[in-house]
Amino acid sequence: MSSKQSSSDNASPSPQDLLKLSKIPGNESCADCQVPKPQWVDVAQGVFICIQCAGIRRSNISVTICRVKSLNLDRWNQAEYQHVSSLGNLIVNRRLEAKLDSETKSQFVHSGNSKLMETFIVSKYVHRVWAQDDRNTKSEHDEDPIMSDDRDHIITTRDQMITPSGHHHQPMINFLHY
Ligand SMILES: [Zn+2]
Repeated sequence: MSSKQSSSDNASPSPQDLLKLSKIPGNESCADCQVPKPQWVDVAQGVFICIQCAGIRRSNISVTICRVKSLNLDRWNQAEYQHVSSLGNLIVNRRLEAKLDSETKSQFVHSGNSKLMETFIVSKYVHRVWAQDDRNTKSEHDEDPIMSDDRDHIITTRDQMITPSGHHHQPMINFLHY
């Protein structure tokens, strides 16, 4: 038998590598709903997720923000592997759920309501409403503070309050002229 493809330039991580990654504490349950043994990975965000939360991403979120791959069925490239290795559920949740209290989270996650779960995932990854201010997470990037992620410029909806009922509360500003 001869291996047809010798893609050494873009070597995929081995199944063992991926398995090892999935056993890292935090990665053993879905980053969003905590279902055990998630078999899917958001290789853009760097989190392990269950099939339900993977499906919500696919139908609601652009692949430029969330990109889902199977732990076993898809081919990964080294860059994706390195990216996910450097992040993982614990690190990402610490950042993206920094301002989320456990009671609010459980209202979303344990609601059994897929619409609420959609709202939760979009709020968490797209609008980043519960994210830590990037300014406070500089320890990871020792670069010039001015050269921060361009995410800073995209995220402008962070101040919106999103509640489990799905309503976006935005301040109403009334100018009263008499
Ligand atoms: Zn999940």
